Amino acid sequence: MTHRNDLERHLGQLLDVARFKDYGPNGLQVEGREQIGTLVCGVTASLGLIEAAIAAKADAILVHHGLFWRGQDGRVTGWMKQRLARLLAHDINLYAYHLPLDAHAELGNNAQLGRLLGWQGESRFGEQDLGWLGSLPQACSLTELAAQIGSTLGRTPVLAPGDGRALRRVAWCTGGAQGYFEAAIAAGADVFVTGEISEPQAHYAAETGVAFIAAGHHATERYGVQAVAHQLAAEFGIRQQFIDIANPA
Ligand SMILES: [Zn+2]
Repeated sequence: MTHRNDLERHLGQLLDVARFKDYGPNGLQVEGREQIGTLVCGVTASLGLIEAAIAAKADAILVHHGLFWRGQDGRVTGWMKQRLARLLAHDINLYAYHLPLDAHAELGNNAQLGRLLGWQGESRFGEQDLGWLGSLPQACSLTELAAQIGSTLGRTPVLAPGDGRALRRVAWCTGGAQGYFEAAIAAGADVFVTGEISEPQAHYAAETGVAFIAAGHHATERYGVQAVAHQLAAEFGIRQQFIDIANPA
C-alpha cells in the first residue's frame, strides 16, 4: 500500500517531470482514493481501459496518454464525461506521464522498445532529445527489419522505402514522432522507426534514401508504462497489471 501523493512524488522524481515541456499535465490527473494497493497500467486512459481497471478493482491507473491535452475545448461532455464519470464513481486515481515516459533512459518507451528489438541507444537527437540513435546488431535489409519489428510487436508495419542500402544505423522515437524524420536523417540514420506516418514522410524517404517504418503508435508505446509499473510494484509492494486495449493505430 502507498499513499496517492507519495506515488506521485516518486513518479515525478523518477521520470524527471520538471525537465519537459509537454502537451498536457504530467502527474495525477484525476484524484481518487488515498490508499493505493492495486495498480492497472495501460497505454491510453480510454473508456475500455477504465472499465477493465474497475473490473480489476484497481485503486489507480497509470497511462502514457491521459485525459487532458493542450488545445482541448475543456468541456466535460460526451466521451470525456463518460470517462471521468466512471473514474470518479469508482474513486480511481489516474496518473499520466507523456514525454517523461518516452524519454526515461532505462524505463522509457524508447529505451524499452530498443531493448525489445535488440538496439543499443548510442546518442539522442531531435526536439528535447527525445529521439534515439544506435546501431543494428547486424546490417540488414528493410524487409528483414520490418519482419522482425512486425513479429515482435504483433502488427505489420507500414514502410516507406529509401534507396535500398543495407541498414546499419537506426533512429527511433515511439508514438506519433513522424515529425522527427528530418532530424533522424540529419543525425545519420539509414532507417527511422516510429509509430505513425503522414503523407510527407514517404516523399522524404524516396528523396533522401533513408527508409521510414511506421510500426504503430499504440504498438510502440506499450512498454514504458509496464517497466515503470514493475518498478513501482517493487518499490511500494503494490500489485500491478498491464491491460492491453487493442488499437490498430
Ligand atoms: Zn503517444
